Amino acid sequence: MTDLGKLEELAKAATPGPWEQYTTLQADSHVTAGGGLLTGTLVCGPTYHKGNAEFIAAANPAAMLALIADHRAARARIAKVEALHQRGTPGIGTDWCVSCETKWPCQTVRALTEGENE
Ligand SMILES: [Zn+2]
Repeated sequence: MTDLGKLEELAKAATPGPWEQYTTLQADSHVTAGGGLLTGTLVCGPTYHKGNAEFIAAANPAAMLALIADHRAARARIAKVEALHQRGTPGIGTDWCVSCETKWPCQTVRALTEGENE
C-alpha cells in the first residue's frame, strides 16, 4: 500500500507547479517550474531520458495532490457502500446481504472485491 500521507507531505514540500519538460538543443531534458530553463526554477535534470522528464513533469505536486484527494474520496465512497452491504445470517443456513436481501456475497460486494486476491 502506498503511503498517501508521505506522498502528500512530499508534494506539499516540493516546488509548486506547473512543471514543464524542456529538451535542449543538446537533446538533454530538464523539468522546470514557473518558466523555462532561463526564467523558471530547475526541478530536475539534465537527463537524456526524455520520457522520465515528461513523467516527472506530469507527476507534479498539484497532480499528485489531486490524485490523493480523488483516491481518498473514492475510498470514502467505497466504505459507505461496504457499510450498507453487510453479511446477515437470518438463521436459515445461508448468509445474505442485509441491504440487497440476496445470497452473500451480493453483486455489489462481488464487484467491490473482484480481483482483490489475484
Ligand atoms: Zn448487497
